[in-house]
Amino acid sequence: MEELVYMNTWLDVAVVRCPNCGNYHVDASWFLIELESDIQCGRCQTEFNGKDNTTDRVLLEFTIDEEGKMQNVRVKEHLPIEQNLE
Ligand SMILES: [Zn+2]
Repeated sequence: MEELVYMNTWLDVAVVRCPNCGNYHVDASWFLIELESDIQCGRCQTEFNGKDNTTDRVLLEFTIDEEGKMQNVRVKEHLPIEQNLE
């Protein structure tokens, strides 16, 4: 049986909560926190600041197989919301 080679890669993401309807969104931390971007809620269309409404920030770990196909994703660790991006 051939042994499969898996590689890991990571993405820093933030969880934001719409201040109007409470709907949750997830987007890249560099977009929400570093750029302090405004985003629009997909449910109620309210525009709000992503950084001010961040409720969590995590490092996602993706497992990719040797053909470049994503096999798995998990929460590797929770990060401080105010920490600078690397
Ligand atoms: Zn909303």
